[in-house]
Amino acid sequence: MTNSPALYLHVPFCAHICFYCDFCHQVYDRKKAERWLSALRQEMKERLTFQPFTIYLGGGTPTVLPLDQLDELLCLLDPYKDVKEYTIEINPETFDEKKAECLKRHGINRASIGLQSASAEELRSLGRHHDLEDVKRTLQLLHAVGIDNVSLDILYSFPGQTKESFRNTLQTAVSLAPAHLSLYSLTIEENSVFGKQGKQPLPEDTEADFYEYAVSFLERNGYEQYEVANFAKDGQYSRHNLVYWHYEDFLGLSMGASSKLGHERSDNTRSLEEYCRGNWIKERIPLCEKDEMFEMTMMNLRLKEGLSEKRFRERFGRDFADVYPEALQKLQEKGWICKKEDHWVVNDREILNTVLLEFLD
Ligand code: SF4
Repeated sequence: MTNSPALYLHVPFCAHICFYCDFCHQVYDRKKAERWLSALRQEMKERLTFQPFTIYLGGGTPTVLPLDQLDELLCLLDPYKDVKEYTIEINPETFDEKKAECLKRHGINRASIGLQSASAEELRSLGRHHDLEDVKRTLQLLHAVGIDNVSLDILYSFPGQTKESFRNTLQTAVSLAPAHLSLYSLTIEENSVFGKQGKQPLPEDTEADFYEYAVSFLERNGYEQYEVANFAKDGQYSRHNLVYWHYEDFLGLSMGASSKLGHERSDNTRSLEEYCRGNWIKERIPLCEKDEMFEMTMMNLRLKEGLSEKRFRERFGRDFADVYPEALQKLQEKGWICKKEDHWVVNDREILNTVLLEFLD
């Protein structure tokens, strides 16, 4: 491992529940948030015993917290705020000038905003309560306080989306000139509103068509596809997410967060009651070397740079080519993977899942 672990902190509240979402969340309630904050204080005391490499505040919706509770949360993180990248997720319907100033005061230097679609009609159909104007206003508020490193999230392949509306969303996103863009294809989760309504995403070939279009459109517009679903201008990659893709360690705090520390993965409880009782961790999963080798392969090959043989050797004391000789031979013969200096790279990341199957037994 090259860095100290990254820190992810999950804020489990939202203003509303979007129809496609099955994350760990509940509708914001002041009393519940007070109890959550005091439990979080305890969890931090017990588990955050190091200076993290990066900090990422996700959710849920961190900015659903009113100013005083947002400030309280960020005060808890102040002793650790001396990081190169400190990100917060923002839902544009829950943001204002005072909150922008608060983020700046506490050292946040990157924001990830849920644009999802540029169409007001589509946003309503997804259960989102903001529109494009709210996104533009959020960007202005961030720029006004000097937070210019912004990423926009875009959703695709949801019911009712057309290629034309998707093109328009991509064009709009690019016109807003964010440093970074993330694409998410809709998966219908059983427990989401869409899942309960029996809604379906668009057919697989349409989804693949949308993805292909997005990759070439974004590359034409100066966004490098440095990971399967992530695009950056001028090398402004997400350092925090690179920790996941490089298969390094991270600590996840709060309800619903996951951690990977050393040879163990763990998942926190999703229940506020359990969490407030101090039972943070619900499940611990020990990782054997074989699991770790596969997981590292799976994460590294998502990257444009691919898997570094050197990093693999440093981690496991073995050569990648000696661990997976048959898979590599087969994939090379098919022209699906190639070696570029120290790195193994998948030639077409649209077939990544098929490639990864070869590394399984
Ligand atoms: S998509 Fe984001 S804002 Fe919407 S319910 Fe899920 S976590 Fe909350």
